Amino acid sequence: MKELFVPDFYADSIFDIDLSKLQKQGIQSLIIDIDNTLVAWDKKEAPVSVLEWFGKLKEMGFKLCLVSNNTEDRVVKFTEDIDIDAIHKAKKPIKAPFRKAMNKMGSDLDNTAVIGDQIFTDVLGGNRTGLYTVLVVPIEGKEYWWTKFVRNIERHIVRGLKKGENKSRIN
Ligand SMILES: [Mg+2]
Repeated sequence: MKELFVPDFYADSIFDIDLSKLQKQGIQSLIIDIDNTLVAWDKKEAPVSVLEWFGKLKEMGFKLCLVSNNTEDRVVKFTEDIDIDAIHKAKKPIKAPFRKAMNKMGSDLDNTAVIGDQIFTDVLGGNRTGLYTVLVVPIEGKEYWWTKFVRNIERHIVRGLKKGENKSRIN
């Protein structure tokens, strides 16, 4: 049996997913998460890079459906200028929204993949449904680690400054 929390494939970001390889594996339809997969959770609109990525997917013939646990407001605003089906308040990891998305795309278990940043919603839900799952590093996570990294450096510098201060006081 497939491990429910383990994705079939792992990528640093959506842009690092080998789309032709997916196609060669028989994947024709994609269920894609929004928050922290396509865009940071606090960004309302898709950046140009994501719009271009959607264009590439469509050109390659992929069918697409966005599936988000977020509110109708968020999902409608995000898809306003994009001609892609979307399901809001999906309640992933339950199976229903994945099946609903497959119905919309006219796809089935053998040719549909899920792309998302969360193991407990996207990967678990996709695996439970019987789909191919792709996990990407959360966009917010990247910022978070970067912020943490920068803060660590700042802390070192501040510590160094304080030591210097002490020394000069002692001397
Ligand atoms: Mg997400």
